[in-house]
Amino acid sequence: MLDERLRRIRGYLLDMDGTLYIGAEAVPGAQAFMAAVQRAGCPRLVLTNNSSAARSKYRGRLAALGMPVPLSAVLTSGGASAEWLFASTPLRRPYVLGTRALKDECRRAGLTPSDPETSDCVLLGYDTGVTYATLTDACLLVAQGLPYYATHADRTCISPRGLLPDAGALIAAIEVTTGRAPVVLGKPEASMVEAGLRRLGTTVDETLILGDQLDTDMMLGQKSGILSVLTMTGEAARRRREYESVVPDLTVSHPGELLERLCAAGALPRTIL
Ligand SMILES: [Mg+2]
Repeated sequence: MLDERLRRIRGYLLDMDGTLYIGAEAVPGAQAFMAAVQRAGCPRLVLTNNSSAARSKYRGRLAALGMPVPLSAVLTSGGASAEWLFASTPLRRPYVLGTRALKDECRRAGLTPSDPETSDCVLLGYDTGVTYATLTDACLLVAQGLPYYATHADRTCISPRGLLPDAGALIAAIEVTTGRAPVVLGKPEASMVEAGLRRLGTTVDETLILGDQLDTDMMLGQKSGILSVLTMTGEAARRRREYESVVPDLTVSHPGELLERLCAAGALPRTIL
């Protein structure tokens, strides 16, 4: 049954942090997995919920770890959110509480990041340059009732210094002030799935997501029907008990084991190894 589902897989959604690498190190089997998928000519996207950095940063990090991907194969929650807003709403002029990278993603998708006076919605991201003035502008617009979206809702971002306030912390500040919460667009929400499938050119049935987080990566699979594969390399190993309701379709110890399973099921030719 699982092998039958694996055999149909043509497209890959791949979480990066904790799945393909941890810090400056590639995860076991990640390079072999990425190379095999590329050699097989399968479309793949690397994903992150972090909307603060540019796609080129992730491409550079993967290339440095021996996993080169084209820029077009990097999908951030910022890119997915901007594409979804353009495709699914008439809104074109977001007030962006976010970094320059998020504003660039908006422009690439056809949106025009705008001043508070001329904006038609609010898009909140992981804004590492937030100030009291920009937070105030966002609060006032949200309080006025403008459509309000967030690229993702992760509360914290792991760093060598400890946990840092992520988009969820800014969402909380605005909610305390205005009483409103945003429509969230990144993993595990449908916007990320829709943007991902559109770019892969595959159906739900033909697509697999590999990730290390239950509440985002595996929840995305559970909600959308995309085959979800949990790798025990990153977050999940530590936090499994917190999300007992999220059940991955397959659990592997690392991406190399998934590669073996895909070959055994006939999704990838053995000759690729
Ligand atoms: Mg991860």
